[in-house]
Amino acid sequence: MHDKALVLFSGGQDSTTCLAWALQRYAQVETIGFDYGQRHAVELECRKTVLEALRAGRPDWAERLGEDHMLDLGVLGRLSDTALTRDASIAFERNGLPNTFVPGRNLLFFTFAAALAYRRGLSVLVGGMCETDYSGYPDCRDNTLKSLQVSLSLGMDMPLVVETPLMWLDKAATWRLAEQIGGRLLVELIKESTHTCYLGERRQRHPWGYGCGACPACELRAKGYANYMSAQAATD
Ligand code: ZN
Repeated sequence: MHDKALVLFSGGQDSTTCLAWALQRYAQVETIGFDYGQRHAVELECRKTVLEALRAGRPDWAERLGEDHMLDLGVLGRLSDTALTRDASIAFERNGLPNTFVPGRNLLFFTFAAALAYRRGLSVLVGGMCETDYSGYPDCRDNTLKSLQVSLSLGMDMPLVVETPLMWLDKAATWRLAEQIGGRLLVELIKESTHTCYLGERRQRHPWGYGCGACPACELRAKGYANYMSAQAATD
C-alpha cells in the first residue's frame, strides 16, 4: 500500500529534489510534467537531461524510475495572464502576489496528476511545494494541499496521499536534503541541469547554477545556496 508514487516534475531544483526523495522511498516512481505555454521551454528540456542523468548515475534508482508523462495544458496558458506565460516584466500586484502567479495552477496539476495516478495504479502524489521560502502563492500552502488530498481521495474513491517533503524547509535546507539523499553527485546535477529562473536565462553560470540572478526565483535559489555553503563551511 502506498509504495507507488507519481512525482510532479518540472525540471527545477525543488521537483528534482522531490524526485530523488521519492526514488529513495518508493518501489515504483513515475513522473508527470505540464506544458502550459510557459514563456521558456528551457525547463522542459531540463526535465529530460535530469531524468537521463539520474538513470545513468544511479542504477539503483533507474530500476524504480518508470514512465515519464507529459501533459499539454495549453488551456491554462490561454486562461491566465501572468508574467510566466506572457512577455511581461515581473512585478507585484496590489494583493501582494507577484504577477508570476498562475491562478489555480497547483490545484489543476494535482487534479490531472491524480487522474493519471488512478489509471496507472499509483497512490502517492509528490510535489515540491513549500511555504517557508516562497513567493506567497496560496496553492503552495500546506492546508491547500491537505484539503486537496481529501477532495481527490473522496472524488476518486481511492486513498491518495499528497506528499510535500519540502513544505517546511527553507532553500538552504533543500540543498542540504539533496546532499543527504544523493551526495555531491545530486547537488552537482541540480546545479548544472535544473532550471528555476523565471526569465529562462541559461547563459550566466553562478555558483548555484544558471539563471539571470535577479528574478525572485534566482534570488531565493542564490540565497539558499549561500546559506547552505556557509553552514557547511562552519561544520567542516
Ligand atoms: Zn532569474
